[in-house]
Amino acid sequence: MSKLSYKSRQATIEALKENQYDLFIIGGGITGAGVAIQAAASGLKTALVDMQDFAEGTSSRSTKLVHGGIRYLKNFDLEVVSDTVTERATVHNIAPHIPQPDPMLMPLYDEPKVTFNPLRLQIAMDIYDSLAGVKDTKYANEMLSKEEVLERQPDLMQEGLIGGGKYLDFNNNDARLVIENIKQANDDGADLLSHAKVTGFEYENGKIVAVQVEDKLSGETFTVKAHIVINTTGPWSDTIRQLDGEDDKPAQMRPTKGVHFVVDRAKLDVSQPIYFDTGEQDGRMVFVLPRENKTYFGTTDTDYTGDFEHPTVTQEDVDYLLKVVNHRFPKAGLTINDIEASWVGLRPLIDSNNASDYNGGDSGRLSERTFDELVTLFDGYGDKTVERATVEDKLQSISSNTSERGDASPSSVSRGSDLSVSASGLFTLAGGKLTDYRKMAKGAMEQVIPALTAITGKAFTLVQSATYPVSGGQFDPSAYDTAMDQFANIGAARGLAYGDALKLAKLYGSNMYRVLAYLPVAKDYAEKYDLPIDIAVSLIYAIEEEAVYTPLDFFARRTTLMLFQHDKMLAVKDGVRQVIVDYLDLDADIADAQAKALDEEIAKAELQYLK
Ligand SMILES: Cc1cc2nc3c(=O)[nH]c(=O)nc-3n(C[C@H](O)[C@H](O)[C@H](O)COP(=O)(O)OP(=O)(O)OC[C@H]3O[C@@H](n4cnc5c(N)ncnc54)[C@H](O)[C@@H]3O)c2cc1C
Repeated sequence: MSKLSYKSRQATIEALKENQYDLFIIGGGITGAGVAIQAAASGLKTALVDMQDFAEGTSSRSTKLVHGGIRYLKNFDLEVVSDTVTERATVHNIAPHIPQPDPMLMPLYDEPKVTFNPLRLQIAMDIYDSLAGVKDTKYANEMLSKEEVLERQPDLMQEGLIGGGKYLDFNNNDARLVIENIKQANDDGADLLSHAKVTGFEYENGKIVAVQVEDKLSGETFTVKAHIVINTTGPWSDTIRQLDGEDDKPAQMRPTKGVHFVVDRAKLDVSQPIYFDTGEQDGRMVFVLPRENKTYFGTTDTDYTGDFEHPTVTQEDVDYLLKVVNHRFPKAGLTINDIEASWVGLRPLIDSNNASDYNGGDSGRLSERTFDELVTLFDGYGDKTVERATVEDKLQSISSNTSERGDASPSSVSRGSDLSVSASGLFTLAGGKLTDYRKMAKGAMEQVIPALTAITGKAFTLVQSATYPVSGGQFDPSAYDTAMDQFANIGAARGLAYGDALKLAKLYGSNMYRVLAYLPVAKDYAEKYDLPIDIAVSLIYAIEEEAVYTPLDFFARRTTLMLFQHDKMLAVKDGVRQVIVDYLDLDADIADAQAKALDEEIAKAELQYLK
């Protein structure tokens, strides 16, 4: 049993009450989890709490890409792209079982106000590949003719289609990336607790020395002593800053809402991720992505001021996205009744960054002179008066001028993110993208450690986070297929069907051994509650080692059942619910509340209130 199990919850609470922590982290989304793994691996006595399940905030509600944001290259904002494209590769290396290369198709239309015309897209993709170091690999970009685009995606709107491009990006499982960071921090000695809310601070000489916490499951309140406290609560960051007496400060965050919808592949079948202008001339772009046997699409970007824990899809969101997708896929004819599942997230955008996301809005740009030089070089390359090497040299010089700025000012830990320290010593790390999480955490830790040393006199060496794998990532990233086959074969040797074992291997990576250790007990529960063995073993592992407490934790954040295997989820939901109650010996009133919450969340994801 791991310390993350609900069965260990009381022991973790006792530890939190007793210990003096070096670092206390508020919020267990990707930002907090990223800080926790680095802090624990660097030897800091580390604690983290989240008022919901881990990853229940924005970090399970993204577009599920680890990407460089090619759209920023519309205005050649190289710094942003340099950061994210470099981090894309780093995240793939430290979590090789999670993000996977997944080339993106971008069809181009001859329409007003498009993001890219062919020349600009070619330049953007070359810069993108150059910054990512994938030139001359199988993932190098390609310009495509209209016919080639239609060969890849025959049902795309043909009117106005003038060609397109294909470039590398990565798919992702956002919530699993969070839990694998949390699990590694746990293995490295951190104390981490979900469903525990920070309600206030205690001070000595004007500096925070302890945090007040409310256990959301029991109602108990307790105090945790910490030398340094960091606020990584994403959209909630201002609320925590206000708890620290910063009510007089203007709001730092300007959260915007983004929604995604899932339909069956039979309704809209895409062979690869696709990213296109909406056709609404609103400067936005939309993704349509295949995942398992489903297709999902999004997103929107609207200012949001409602309930942060329960943002909802509106009729306007549905109308907008269906209009855009049906326009580009004229034969799809999607209606709201085709939407099987949906999710809504709040971008933790920093107001001073003009609150723009990757899919609309711009910031910064390449100088006009450099841009003109690039265009001239590309023209010359086109009519064969300029050598390819000359173009590559230019791209290289741009990339080396913009990567890893090494600027130590607090607000520059990564573009789009912000690190600040209040008068009482509260660190706040917010904004950025999921893709940048490791770099954001590193930037924060580089300032936390000296502050901690100043308080305690203790010295710490920051872990080399770019090569420190998350839980499950202990295998060679360049041998993914071989590793998955090996892990799957171990499962098959233990009696699982190879296909089921392979799915588990892809979910758990090198933790496959730990998962399979629960097979004997999982078999008993599978029989008792009529569950497929792959679901049962996944569930027991998730309860024992991944802090699963409710069926929703399991369906929505530890697996993809809620979003991309909706039918299967409906078939197993009662069995899963009963196993959790039985295994954790939960009272009848808790069991009833969990069942009710599950049904409500399913109805909400299915948009029943709008159908
Ligand atoms: C629609 C959409 C699409 C996106 N797509 C992508 C993408 O494809 N790729 C990408 O890189 N990025 C993407 N992003 C951005 C990315 O998802 C976010 O930047 C990231 O998830 C933010 O993580 P976070 O940990 O800062 O915040 P969160 O994940 O929201 O975590 C904050 C946590 O703090 C907890 N908390 C709040 N108050 C308290 C309290 N008082 N006590 C204890 N805990 C508390 C919350 O419960 C929450 O779990 C997208 C965002 C959205 C909204």
